[in-house]
Amino acid sequence: MDRRSVIKNAGIAGILAAGAAPAVHAQATVRWRLSSSFPKALDTIHGAADVFAKAVKNMTGGKFEISVHAAGEITPPFGVVDAVQQGSIEIAHTAPYYFFGKNDVFALGCSIPFGLNSRQMTAWMYEGNGLKLMREFYAKYNIISFPGGNTGSQMGGWYRKEIKSVADMKGLKFRVGGFAGKVIERMGGVPQNIPGGEIYTALEKGTIDAAEWVGPYDDQKLGFNKVAPFYYYPGWWEGGPQLDFFINQKAFEALPAEYKAIVEAAAATAHTDMQAKYDARNPAALKELVAKGTKLRPFTNDVMALAFKESMALYEELNDKNPDWKKIYADFSKFRAEQNLWFRFTEAKFDTFMQAQKL
Ligand code: CA
Repeated sequence: MDRRSVIKNAGIAGILAAGAAPAVHAQATVRWRLSSSFPKALDTIHGAADVFAKAVKNMTGGKFEISVHAAGEITPPFGVVDAVQQGSIEIAHTAPYYFFGKNDVFALGCSIPFGLNSRQMTAWMYEGNGLKLMREFYAKYNIISFPGGNTGSQMGGWYRKEIKSVADMKGLKFRVGGFAGKVIERMGGVPQNIPGGEIYTALEKGTIDAAEWVGPYDDQKLGFNKVAPFYYYPGWWEGGPQLDFFINQKAFEALPAEYKAIVEAAAATAHTDMQAKYDARNPAALKELVAKGTKLRPFTNDVMALAFKESMALYEELNDKNPDWKKIYADFSKFRAEQNLWFRFTEAKFDTFMQAQKL
């Protein structure tokens, strides 16, 4: 019964006689702990968890508070799925592809090489079958997922030496986010899965030859330009990687209905906010990096062509051996084909024209 019908049925006099306004909502006090996989210094990617927690707090009048903990504070950056699954924390903010070692399907909820761009990924999630299919999969880990940001297309990373052809990929010790390492490996490289906060030291010491993180704004903050001169593009393994809020299913189910709706709305706010931050902040950072001596280089055609070929071969192999992958990738790849057919007539043509103009 909503407020209006309470008033209609009881009458104002009746309510006043009862001595109280009608109780409309259960205002439960809830406290959750959120573990991020990212360092606090990154106001973009770590910031999405802050945006989410603040929105939840504001929408509940301070009744539902989520404390946000940076990578390593309460959970190791790559330990968050285990922690949510076991219920030792209620919620995590992470890049699902870090967990491809559990099952390669985690990558489909985040990014695979030559996958979807940011717009397309959001469309697959909210309007296609993406969210439904990924939630069915994450349920095996006691997780319910909410899209929680996208970086947009990323850069291809920082290299101590130039990559002039595929031959230079051989033996390259490359920090690359999660699942993409499988393709790097097939190209002859040696992928390293290192959390964001630990990349700089590894690159500085030379224990790795190259590293990618996100794009100019984050990368400059992490200082990679100081230890590697060549900055490659595009990040073909991350055309539009999505971050997620992973919530323990029992913790979510225990929430009042209003709080469930608030969690969903707050996550959607964070999802939009992160992409806006990256798009707004990357251009100035790229100019600053180039002014400080960073050398921009496109990946050569042979590198791109081999990467594409190896990616598609990998997906075929996964189709053969992983039924979950086969089911979800079939939907993902159909959606990808339709999106590219549409975008070629619209964004691709418009963007290319605009980028060639003197503005
Ligand atoms: Ca990346």
